[in-house]
Amino acid sequence: MNEILVFTEVNDDGFDKSLLEMLFMLKELGHDNSTLTVAALGDNMESKESILKSIPVSKVVATKNLDTNKFNPNILKKVATNIVERLNPSKIIIPKTSIGQDLATRLAYSCNMGIVNDCLYIENNDDKWIGVRPVFGGNYFAKVKATTDSQIFCVRTKVFEELADNSVTPDIEFYENDINIDSSTQILERTQEQSDGIKLEDAEIVVAGGRGLGGPEPFETLDEIAGLLNAAVGASRAVCDAGWKDHSYQIGLTGKDISPNLYFTVGISGASQHMAGCGNSKHIVSIDKNIDANIFKDAEIGAVGDWKNILPGFLDTLKDLAKD
Ligand SMILES: Cc1cc2nc3c(=O)[nH]c(=O)nc-3n(C[C@H](O)[C@H](O)[C@H](O)COP(=O)(O)OP(=O)(O)OC[C@H]3O[C@@H](n4cnc5c(N)ncnc54)[C@H](O)[C@@H]3O)c2cc1C
Repeated sequence: MNEILVFTEVNDDGFDKSLLEMLFMLKELGHDNSTLTVAALGDNMESKESILKSIPVSKVVATKNLDTNKFNPNILKKVATNIVERLNPSKIIIPKTSIGQDLATRLAYSCNMGIVNDCLYIENNDDKWIGVRPVFGGNYFAKVKATTDSQIFCVRTKVFEELADNSVTPDIEFYENDINIDSSTQILERTQEQSDGIKLEDAEIVVAGGRGLGGPEPFETLDEIAGLLNAAVGASRAVCDAGWKDHSYQIGLTGKDISPNLYFTVGISGASQHMAGCGNSKHIVSIDKNIDANIFKDAEIGAVGDWKNILPGFLDTLKDLAKD
């Protein structure tokens, strides 16, 4: 029982790239890809063999042609439980995607395993793994150890870079579909969230606005800046609660987790609940008229003043640079 099992979601477009981040983290923890098994979850996996072959570990397992009813949580839990019972891994890694975080807790219950949720990273202490996770709105970090023999770690995405390794091609093992897929719930429809441009969670640069913008109109300037920087636009909860932007734009504890290279904020005070979702940004640059705004504790570069006086010049400079 030494195996490390990593779950990933696979659809027609490929496997979820968060898997490569998990593999990078595991490499940092000293685990070679050849010692890991990846469990691929999704519909009709046999038809996706070429995708599975592109996963850079030595072993991939999946359940034979099974319709998971568009990632129905009940069915996924049964598939995942079945795989865990077959492999009996000592450690399970699940990326904290929306499907992954739901699966992790269901799987922990179904397999009676301890779980460490929302890990930023994992520490290895004499082969005992400790999950490090943000608490109290990201102001502190808790080190959490699960005490069961096997443990589940649900790890935030976008904290680690993606593993770049094409040297390993996996053996693929398809399990017979012996799972009772009756489910008390059925997914009738899935709709893709409409978003113009780059997805907030995937963006290398995020331009975000807060209540200090005073209304929805100034977001047009942020959209323009985002266009020039190839960035995504985000917002604080105050903005989304006010209806200036849809809640899909919200960054923070009750919004999205982002870890861009550059996080550029305008009129966001930097409340701890906001920082919980963006504190992992590599560089933060902020405009706020209050020199004591909390955001300046994290910002590498800060402009203190009214955005109405600062943004136009900034935008013009960007436009000039874009011309060159
Ligand atoms: C349980 C819980 C969960 C929460 N989850 C989230 C979350 O996920 N995400 C989130 O964002 N918040 C969350 N919040 C809310 C959070 O506490 C803050 O209320 C919110 O982040 C404030 O948003 P803001 O920074 O846009 O507004 P404010 O705090 O009002 O800040 C506005 C800033 O704009 C500046 N400003 C004003 N006018 C100008 C100007 N003309 N030029 C330049 N600067 C100007 C001000 O100085 C100020 O710093 C949560 C709260 C709770 C209790």
